[in-house]
Amino acid sequence: MEKQLKKRLSTLAVNQVQWDCSLAPYTSFGIGGAASALITVESVAELEGLLKCFVENNLEWRLIGRGTNLLVADSGFTGVILILGKGLSQIALLEEAEFGRVVVRVGAGCSLARLLAWCLDQGLSGLEFVSGIPGSLGGAVVMNAGAWGGEMADVIASLATVSLFTGEKILGREELDFSYRLWENLENDGAKRLVISADLDLRQGMKEEIAASCRSYLQQRLQKQPKGLKNAGSFFKNPPGDSAGRLIEASGLKGKSCGGAMVSPVHANFLVNSGQATAKDVLSLMELVREKVAKDTGITLETEVHLL
Ligand SMILES: Cc1cc2nc3c(=O)[nH]c(=O)nc-3n(C[C@H](O)[C@H](O)[C@H](O)COP(=O)(O)OP(=O)(O)OC[C@H]3O[C@@H](n4cnc5c(N)ncnc54)[C@H](O)[C@@H]3O)c2cc1C
Repeated sequence: MEKQLKKRLSTLAVNQVQWDCSLAPYTSFGIGGAASALITVESVAELEGLLKCFVENNLEWRLIGRGTNLLVADSGFTGVILILGKGLSQIALLEEAEFGRVVVRVGAGCSLARLLAWCLDQGLSGLEFVSGIPGSLGGAVVMNAGAWGGEMADVIASLATVSLFTGEKILGREELDFSYRLWENLENDGAKRLVISADLDLRQGMKEEIAASCRSYLQQRLQKQPKGLKNAGSFFKNPPGDSAGRLIEASGLKGKSCGGAMVSPVHANFLVNSGQATAKDVLSLMELVREKVAKDTGITLETEVHLL
């Protein structure tokens, strides 16, 4: 990156820009090369200034959350990675309406774990299903993250978003389309929409009951999911009416490896980094799984994990 552009980015960014920043520590896979720069953004104004600079200078960029649904290429990313800092990770009680309904505004950078702990402390129910999902609120919205029959779409009342063309915009529930592991409104006339915060529709509940649900979900996760090896959760989406894990297991692929990447022997839809896996290893394994499952069943598995 040119010296002049580096200087401009350093002026626009509130926090210190991290140049040639390895992205592996920013992903749950622990895989990936370096980004030209990584900036932790603290406000919408800062974000808008940066987006404008990226367009003016034809710079590639991407906003990521906790990188728990992300596979970063070994060659890294030629461009700027944005992550949301504390200024865009706040939680605030907005409104206590009738019948125990409570609206909470959550910054997209907030981790689901912190949000859930806060809800538990406040005795607010509705998000128990995210117990053990390790992402940020923004990532969970974009992925329409879900488990145990619940998903983010069930609790979102509105979203504050930013895009290059429309600037800051609030989208009401009626304007939002969600489907399985997908927020359909991510693109806006060719510009990416960024989630800044979400207003969540929760309800007052009993602390003991909320805690018991969270514990039960966590225990079930511990039994069903691999421990100790880095991964990005379910690698493939479940095809309609079936489960990707069941299909992969039925194809005899549990424990199958490509370099350092392995189909988890515990849960076949988890591709794990068994030590020194590269993104290339994971992609080779992904292709192998896809081909074998397609050959055995005629079903082509679609990835849930996003590629960078
Ligand atoms: C052990 C484990 C268990 C998991 N279990 C589940 C589960 O049960 N259910 C489930 O649904 N998922 C699960 N996941 C996957 C993952 O945790 C979720 O998809 C999570 O919501 C991703 O959030 P993130 O912040 O890590 O997003 P990232 O992985 O950082 O990003 C995901 C995508 O969203 C985009 N993005 C992130 N933030 C924003 C934003 N603010 N605005 C616009 N775009 C944005 C990124 O560019 C990327 O394309 C699991 C993952 C792991 C590692």
